[in-house]
Amino acid sequence: MKIKSVKTYHLRCHLENPFGFSQWFYDQRNVLLVEVNTENGLTGWGECYGPAEIIQTAVEKFYAPKILGMDATGTEAIWHHMWRSSLDFSRSGVMMAAMSGIDMALWDVKGKFLKQSVSQLMGGAVKSLVPCYATGMYYQDLPEEQLLKALIEEGVGYANQGFKAMKIKVGKNIEFDKKLITGLRKALPHTVLAADSNHAYDLPEAIHIAKVLDENNYAWFEEPLSPEHPNLFAKLHSKANIAIATGECEQTRYGFQRLIDAGGVQLVQADLAYCGGPSEALKIRAIASAKGLNMIPHVWGTQLNLAAATHFLATAYPEPGRSETQTLYLEYDRTENPLRDNIYKTEVKVENGQAVVPTSPGLGVEINQTKMKDYVVSQTETTMAGEPKH
Ligand code: MG
Repeated sequence: MKIKSVKTYHLRCHLENPFGFSQWFYDQRNVLLVEVNTENGLTGWGECYGPAEIIQTAVEKFYAPKILGMDATGTEAIWHHMWRSSLDFSRSGVMMAAMSGIDMALWDVKGKFLKQSVSQLMGGAVKSLVPCYATGMYYQDLPEEQLLKALIEEGVGYANQGFKAMKIKVGKNIEFDKKLITGLRKALPHTVLAADSNHAYDLPEAIHIAKVLDENNYAWFEEPLSPEHPNLFAKLHSKANIAIATGECEQTRYGFQRLIDAGGVQLVQADLAYCGGPSEALKIRAIASAKGLNMIPHVWGTQLNLAAATHFLATAYPEPGRSETQTLYLEYDRTENPLRDNIYKTEVKVENGQAVVPTSPGLGVEINQTKMKDYVVSQTETTMAGEPKH
């Protein structure tokens, strides 16, 4: 099943309600989607996490011409062909994001060809429903007192929708963070809560917040520290009881091996649209498992990445094994995103805070190309006929 063409779509939308976190405010969302077409008329879709314009060039100009004519079912062979072609000058970063979207599209098309869902291809789903945690409680441009009230109300709203777990943003400032951590716990005494600073803190601040999170029975502290200082995670861990989660800025088995070896991390969070794709995510999970750690993917973006992560968690075998295993929650972003909510005719169904694992061949989500056109900023096509077309 030879690859006949690779297309890319840079999609953009402007947000009605800009939202912020510890690093900046978003007023638009962008994503790069990848479409792989085969000689026998099948199509697979993937998505990339990161700056869409740059990744688009990497797919169109660099990787796509190299994989045309290859057997689309050969996900490992293609991954290594792409990896070998760029490893001398780019072993991570946006080039790996480009590889991730191509790899995801290949898993989708391989599933369609073999009439298997991606979870079947990954070894078999062990569940049909994956419990989700709601990601939300991003900042709005409000005075802090009003913001605090709004965020707690938002969290209560998710609980009322059936979510048993959710994640807040911290890293605004220490005093506000503490009020939010304690306020939400008070409002939701029985909900699984987690907090994400997006690497906002230095070590003393992270130790301080970790204690507050632990006292309030939070499940994990996500990206407490900069990914540039993996050696600090072990220092934080020695001073805190809460599980430390990280990995959304990390890529490949090699990067995760180094991160895990540095110590201190309990929950590994590779993003399937960035870490190297589903192919690489499975290897990262194996490395984590060998160290007794669990991996729950970071999920941002649209339905393709959500579907890939749903299949991934449906096939997860939590560490350590026991009859009543701990729940590995799927990240379910609840912030405004028309690119996730408006362009698919088949989506990942989430009911009562649980994602229904798709059973149709491939990833199990389907784009509505007519609706997608409203958001296309630029598109490319690379075919076997020769040069890339615009
Ligand atoms: Mg995060």
